[in-house]
Amino acid sequence: MSEAVYPRHALSAEGGCRCGGLRFRITGQPMMTSACHCAGCKRMTGAPFSTTLIVPADGFEVTKGQTQLGGLRGPDLHHHHCPDCLSWVFTRVAGVDAIVNVRAVLLDDARGFVPFIETCTSEKLPWVATPAEHSFETMPPVEVYQDLLADYAAHLSPEED
Ligand SMILES: [Zn+2]
Ligand SMILES: [Zn+2]
Repeated sequence: MSEAVYPRHALSAEGGCRCGGLRFRITGQPMMTSACHCAGCKRMTGAPFSTTLIVPADGFEVTKGQTQLGGLRGPDLHHHHCPDCLSWVFTRVAGVDAIVNVRAVLLDDARGFVPFIETCTSEKLPWVATPAEHSFETMPPVEVYQDLLADYAAHLSPEED
C-alpha cells in the first residue's frame, strides 16, 4: 500500500447538472471517494466508470431545482437526475440514510477528486487504470466499509487551521 495523501475537499463545494437547472452544495467533508466500473454505472454515465463522493447526508443540499428519479428505479437505489437535461447527479440508498453518493465530476471544480477505492474491476475496460488504494472485483460487502472509511480518514491531508 502506498503512502498516498488524499486532498481534503474544499468546502463548501458546489456543482450541478449539464443544464445548470439542478445545483447542489457539499458542506460536509466527504467520508470516502470511489470509482465504479460496473456495467450499470457505465451505462448511466456514458463513461468508462462513475465517480463518487460519499458525503454525510447533513452535509449535502440541493440548492436549485428539483430531482427526478431515473436509472433502474429500484426499490432501494434512488438515482436522482435533473428533470430537464437528465444528468445523473446523486444517489440515495434506502436504509443507508446517513450518506448521499454524489457524482464527483459534477463539481464545478473536481480537481480535488481522487478515487480511494474502485469497485467492480471485473467489469473494468482493459485500458482503464485509477490510482485507487483498494480495488474490489465486485461491490465490497457492507462490513468492509467501516474499515475503508477509517483508512480513508487516515489518508486525508491534515486539516488546515
Ligand atoms: Zn439539468
Ligand atoms: Zn457501479
